Amino acid sequence: MQWMVRNIAGSVGEALLGLLYPRVCAGCEGPLGGGEQGGEIPVCSTCRDRLERITPPFCERCGEAFDGETVETFRCSNCADRDFHFDYAVAGHRAHTLVRELLHRFKYGKQIHLCECLRALMEPALDDPRLAAIAQRQDGWLLVPVPLHRRRKRERGFNQAAELCRALARRRRWKVAEALRRTRYTAMQARLDRAGRLENLSGAFKLSRNRRILKELEGADILLVDDVLTTGATANECARVLREEGKANKVVVLTVARR
Ligand SMILES: [Zn+2]
Ligand SMILES: [Zn+2]
Repeated sequence: MQWMVRNIAGSVGEALLGLLYPRVCAGCEGPLGGGEQGGEIPVCSTCRDRLERITPPFCERCGEAFDGETVETFRCSNCADRDFHFDYAVAGHRAHTLVRELLHRFKYGKQIHLCECLRALMEPALDDPRLAAIAQRQDGWLLVPVPLHRRRKRERGFNQAAELCRALARRRRWKVAEALRRTRYTAMQARLDRAGRLENLSGAFKLSRNRRILKELEGADILLVDDVLTTGATANECARVLREEGKANKVVVLTVARR
């Protein structure tokens, strides 16, 4: 709640400040030129060259970008033998160079002001034609953040996925439901191999106890939001709970970046 108030106050304040002072590049913090200020992603042209948007061809299941010529859609070797509980995953940018730095500053450097920039970096993923029909519907997608364990949230001060959901919701008028809880304080996924990651996650997520939220989940078309998708193990376990226990209709994973 506190974060939400601060966020709203933050975006109003930001708009006012923008009138008085020129904005700075989210990457190098240098001043943004006139032509650059209007851009959706607030970075200078030098930093823009360090961004790599994910465009087709990419894996139709996990969103893994593919270099080279191929048919419009395909399934990568990583997904060929796997069945995910989510329908598919989409990401705005590749998780390297600048995007990686921004995510790191946002999450571990507590630079919450980068949330709007990261939301803009996530946004191109929403151009995927598979998302269009539900996006254009009156109620649209239901945004569900991948949860943090409350101890980790206390350490970090906020849940980056929930902040991204709220930033997106402010622009799209979609609802946010914090429908999942992380009930186990697990080791950092990044330090584990694939088998370890799956083991580490089993039973780590539960549905919210909030009745209103549970009702909202039934038959819902969900965008499960996180900052980055690596192996897909976390998103997969969340999607399983949303589907099997929450009775969600569709679960599509949306992230800022794909590693
Ligand atoms: Zn820059
Ligand atoms: Zn794949």
